[in-house]
Amino acid sequence: MAAKLITIVGGGLAGLMLGIGLRRRGVPVTVWEAGHYPRHRVCGEFISGRGQETLSRLGLRELLECAGAVNAGTAAFFSATQSTPPRSLPARAICLSRFTMDHALAVEFRRLGGELLEGQRWPTVRVHASACPDRLKPELQPEGVVRASGRRLQPSEDGRGWFGLKAHAHNVPLTADLEMHVSPRGYVGLCRVDGGAVNVCGLFRRRPGADHTPRNWREWLRGPSGSPLHQRLAGAEFDENSFCAVAGISLQPQRAADRAECCVGDAITMIPPVTGNGMSMAFESAGMAVEALAAWSRREISWTETQQTLARQCDAAFARRLAWAKWFQRMILAPSLQNVLVRFVARSEWFWRTAFERTR
Ligand SMILES: Cc1cc2nc3c(=O)[nH]c(=O)nc-3n(C[C@H](O)[C@H](O)[C@H](O)COP(=O)(O)OP(=O)(O)OC[C@H]3O[C@@H](n4cnc5c(N)ncnc54)[C@H](O)[C@@H]3O)c2cc1C
Repeated sequence: MAAKLITIVGGGLAGLMLGIGLRRRGVPVTVWEAGHYPRHRVCGEFISGRGQETLSRLGLRELLECAGAVNAGTAAFFSATQSTPPRSLPARAICLSRFTMDHALAVEFRRLGGELLEGQRWPTVRVHASACPDRLKPELQPEGVVRASGRRLQPSEDGRGWFGLKAHAHNVPLTADLEMHVSPRGYVGLCRVDGGAVNVCGLFRRRPGADHTPRNWREWLRGPSGSPLHQRLAGAEFDENSFCAVAGISLQPQRAADRAECCVGDAITMIPPVTGNGMSMAFESAGMAVEALAAWSRREISWTETQQTLARQCDAAFARRLAWAKWFQRMILAPSLQNVLVRFVARSEWFWRTAFERTR
């Protein structure tokens, strides 16, 4: 009997990674992607954590290295008045623009015989909660459909929700492979990516009563005048075409078991970007999904079993780091704690290692 088709909604990192893993098992796969490649995405483009093992296992690390991925081994932190010297990352990271990475994975997926429908939006089925009392009942999508459609929109009631901005820049001197700058507005990460550009990416929230609200994206990314970030970006030449923005970001951790669909990546939950672990979670969840989905495709297990197995594995793998990341993000965004936190990272190797390891 022919293997059953898996349909993946979303050709971002999780969707393409899953598609590649399934094609390597000979499973027929179609990926629906609303956009086109290559394209810029709001992302710090800093890949850190266990997802790198998934990349190696699926033979993709070399692909990304050939595409220009830059190795990162140090990080430094800055607040308005404190800074740390460059600290060694307890585990190395790689940095690659989403412009290059998503495109390279899309090409690889097609090379392996996957069907990729670009510019095709999978229709959203909206079911009222009361119509779906059993949360695990796979009623929202037909069997064989996996949601890899990224973060879920969180509309803010007072217009002060989280938003993210990203642009590439040249002429930015860095003191470490990753620089993280915190301010009362949010945080901005800087890291060198392929092509010699520096990724400048920030997560922000408008604060009520703040003295000066930036008027455009460059001002948001450059940081408050006089800050170390502002000095670092003094001579920056931004690539206008690389600018992108997202809003409606929710950072409340969610459990895969509470989703009514089979999900991977940000479609399950989003980890605070300060950890630089979101892409890793996309890779890891996709890697975990391959076995169960291939077994479903071969008619060895039911769809409900497939969904529950994957949800269990993802929740077991991610619960601890999500809890730590929530705590860490809260601390880093409290203006009164920012200087203390940076001082702690500067003085305590134990604190730095613990914060790094627990959030990935
Ligand atoms: C400000 C910010 C900074 C970040 N920095 C980092 C970082 O430095 N390191 C890190 O590891 N992570 C970072 N992240 C998180 C990281 O970007 C995400 O975790 C990662 O992109 C998740 O991958 P994904 O495949 O789940 O979703 P996405 O990459 O968002 O892909 C989802 C895809 O689904 C498509 N899609 C959506 N709906 C449909 C539909 N109905 N039909 C068809 N296609 C659809 C979209 O077009 C998109 O291509 C950051 C996030 C933000 C917001």
